[in-house]
Amino acid sequence: MIQKITINPQSGKAFTLKKGAILTVIDPKGQQVSDMVLFNAHDTHEKISSGKTLDFEESILITKGNFLWSNRSQKMMEILEDTNGRNDFLLAPCSPETFQIMYNNHEEHPSCLNNLQTNLAPFGIHPDEVPTAFNIFMNVQFDPKGKISVLPPTSKSGDYVQFKAEMDLIVCLTACSAEDSNGGTFKPIEYHISEA
Ligand SMILES: [Zn+2]
Repeated sequence: MIQKITINPQSGKAFTLKKGAILTVIDPKGQQVSDMVLFNAHDTHEKISSGKTLDFEESILITKGNFLWSNRSQKMMEILEDTNGRNDFLLAPCSPETFQIMYNNHEEHPSCLNNLQTNLAPFGIHPDEVPTAFNIFMNVQFDPKGKISVLPPTSKSGDYVQFKAEMDLIVCLTACSAEDSNGGTFKPIEYHISEA
């Protein structure tokens, strides 16, 4: 029996993943984004790179069959399955400033960036080292002129994306805290790991 772990709404979790292990990230209720960042477990200066991934995969829509690449041009993960089929790799994790700049909301607000930074600190990762995340289930649309809009995820309850580790990794996942990215409500994210 594989143990399923829950990430509570507007929070995050970090863990190690051995090369060859399979990580399954599930949207249990539907319409919930999970930001994911990756670091080489043996040298945390190597980390997931949006630019390298979009370049080598020759697409801005990353899904089943694609690899996630590092800033040193190494494969970090392969996407084995994607039942929803829509993810984003353009936008940086939501941060306290996101809510101030885009929504003029100056109240205290949880954010993916804070949740990534807090959960990665015990692994010795400096807050400024958190890269652009692979935004699982995030529905970012763009028109031919390049205008971007963030729409509610198309994911339904039980949709999942399955990743195989191509190196020993530190992984951090969130349940995203931004109203607009998640159809206006905050839900949990679930994941499980099957070891190689
Ligand atoms: Zn977020």
